[in-house]
Amino acid sequence: LVSRENHPDRSVVRVGGVPIGPGTMTLIAGPCAVETPEQTLQAARMAQAAGATLLRGGAFKPRTSPYAFQGLGEKGLRILADVRAETGMPIVTEVVDAHDVELVASYADMLQVGTRNMQNFALLQAVGGVGKPVMLKRGMNATIEEWLMAAEYVAQRGNLDIVLCERGIRTFEKATRNTLDISAVPVAQRLSHLPVIVDPSHSGGRRDLVLPLTRAAIAVGADGVIIDVHPNPESALCDGPQALVDDDVRELAQTVRDLPPIV
Ligand code: PEP
Repeated sequence: LVSRENHPDRSVVRVGGVPIGPGTMTLIAGPCAVETPEQTLQAARMAQAAGATLLRGGAFKPRTSPYAFQGLGEKGLRILADVRAETGMPIVTEVVDAHDVELVASYADMLQVGTRNMQNFALLQAVGGVGKPVMLKRGMNATIEEWLMAAEYVAQRGNLDIVLCERGIRTFEKATRNTLDISAVPVAQRLSHLPVIVDPSHSGGRRDLVLPLTRAAIAVGADGVIIDVHPNPESALCDGPQALVDDDVRELAQTVRDLPPIV
């Protein structure tokens, strides 16, 4: 279903009216985690002023440590909905448990499945059945074929509104959190008709790498990027070191505008 063999034209997925696909370079930005109404609104305003058209933000956070901030849950979803009402930006947010899919879908414009859940088949089937676009991040230990098969689980439930997101894979390299597999973008685009975007924030894990990795994503023909922004990264409850602040967001957005997408 997701293969390009029977579907030679590349697909466009619309999220609350915002297109992601060939000819677009959709900028999705927002805080890694929803912390407070003020922080989320400020991050959204920074993102929007720079030109982002979709707002990201995690209410359910899949953290490596059980002692780390796990997200605000439904309270976070309500904050996202308020910020959408205020800014008009459609919301992309993660769901980590199949039991929460209906709840998250009742607030979100796009459901995100994170790297740690790429092969959580019950979750994939649940998000496939709920009628909202899905962003499927590549598992950090997954091959491209496994990633596409995970998308197939979603598609099997009748939902072809899937956007693939390359977010870095595990390699022996320790200088970055994960290694952005930039070649995965054209490879996945050749094998599948689904749009492919890049997450330069979670792959590098470092603010100084977000702009160069975004340039690479544009050069290689990605259909969009998803980046973390925070009004005050030093106090962020999640992934502060990779969050962009005001000037960085503007520079990044300018780069996105200056480097035209490759169709
Ligand atoms: C995220 O985007 O908030 C996130 C946790 O990403 P990943 O699943 O790629 O680590």
